[in-house]
Amino acid sequence: MKQIAYGVFANAKIRPAGQKMKMQAFSYFLLPQRRKCFFKYAAKWRGVFAWVFLRIAWGFLYNYGKVHHSFNAPNRTARKIRKMEKFSYVNATSLEQVTELLSDSGWGEVMLIAGGTDLLAELKEYVAAPKTLVNLKTLPGMEGIEADASGLKIGALTTVADIAKHPTIQHHYTVLAQAAVSVATPQIRNVGTLGGNLCQRPRCWYYRDESTNCLKKGGDICYAVDGLSKYHAILGGDPVYIVHPSDLAPALIALGASVTIVGPEGEKTMSLEEFFTLPAANPYRENVLQPNEIVVGVQVPPAKPNTKSLYLKAREKGAPDFALASVAGVFEMDGKTCKSANIVLGGVAPAPWRSKEAETALTGKMINEMVSKQAGADAVKDAQPLNDNAYKVTLTQNLVSRAAMMAAS
Ligand SMILES: Cc1cc2nc3c(=O)[nH]c(=O)nc-3n(C[C@H](O)[C@H](O)[C@H](O)COP(=O)(O)OP(=O)(O)OC[C@H]3O[C@@H](n4cnc5c(N)ncnc54)[C@H](O)[C@@H]3O)c2cc1C
Ligand code: SF4
Repeated sequence: MKQIAYGVFANAKIRPAGQKMKMQAFSYFLLPQRRKCFFKYAAKWRGVFAWVFLRIAWGFLYNYGKVHHSFNAPNRTARKIRKMEKFSYVNATSLEQVTELLSDSGWGEVMLIAGGTDLLAELKEYVAAPKTLVNLKTLPGMEGIEADASGLKIGALTTVADIAKHPTIQHHYTVLAQAAVSVATPQIRNVGTLGGNLCQRPRCWYYRDESTNCLKKGGDICYAVDGLSKYHAILGGDPVYIVHPSDLAPALIALGASVTIVGPEGEKTMSLEEFFTLPAANPYRENVLQPNEIVVGVQVPPAKPNTKSLYLKAREKGAPDFALASVAGVFEMDGKTCKSANIVLGGVAPAPWRSKEAETALTGKMINEMVSKQAGADAVKDAQPLNDNAYKVTLTQNLVSRAAMMAAS
């Protein structure tokens, strides 16, 4: 190596001044003894050269793979590596400030962030690219649970974990506590909020793929119809076959909850059932919230005496995950006779799905195996499965009949 360096140096010395270094290096190889010297040392260091070459080749292949494959989307089209778009971040101090920031922005320009467990994934997947993020966690007075004779009041910033462990909710609103504890993992429940849970966006893999412009994102086609539809809707789907991902929503609707919303015109309250919309009414959104409105809380009426409530959720492999199908049931019982029932299905429709058919099949009946099976069958009698999700029909049917049997036991 020393000799190679000396060779180049000596050669440089005999060149006229002003000659380019490139030429000097080239002329070094013109003398045979110098060529021999170079190759001798190249052979000695071949291991190092081979390692450097392989390292460069691996780097190239690795980055090529990253550019050309989206590992979590069915549509493996080419995508470029992109940096997350820059956005400004505002810590909210009052509801007036939030509605002012939201007003006139339309969807997507200014976005609200609570726990961020859903929204951050959207940002990282380039499904959302807001110019401003408004942090709701700094808003005073939007967190907490009040439970008294008039029912329950839950602030939109209350975490899912706090709902799951609240003693009154566990005792008198069991369906809600069971739904809350079934959400994701302890880490996500500790951070995720009620408002975020109700307003979270669909998990459809076509929706979450930045390069797929499906119907929900303003395109012409719902790719689930002829594509991969294992996790999609069997009820109320046309023309968009997402399922609503929230576990808290079916439980709250079964309990007769209402939601309070604040916008530029002030505060309004509506039933939570009416808050959610089906794609036939609006294929682009999952609820009636306007771009300049914010959910501030949920109210639940007091539990009726002799009421049993429960939440059953089927998940793939039993892992902490979204529902393949779920049922929230609130049953007013007189012994084994069902005086009234509220049955709301999750994971099977673009909105939490109130099953009036199952409720009718149970109301006024002594619950036994035959009655509960009939309720299950009625719950899915209008189901229209896609190519890969017919299993959800049987699953939902069994969940409903099991819930009825459990209420009577
Ligand atoms: C791995 C994983 C598993 C999950 N499993 C489940 C599950 O099994 N069941 C389930 O129900 N959910 C599940 N989730 C979804 C979700 O993250 C949680 O339900 C959580 O409660 C969302 O709350 P957040 O505060 O983090 O929402 P964020 O991510 O902060 O917000 C979600 C959306 O709601 C909007 N938003 C937030 N707060 C408000 C408000 N007050 N008013 C208006 N809009 C608002 C945001 O703008 C955003 O669009 C899962 C998420 C992950 C990442
Ligand atoms: S189900 Fe909805 S989000 Fe999924 S591909 Fe169809 S339109 Fe898009």
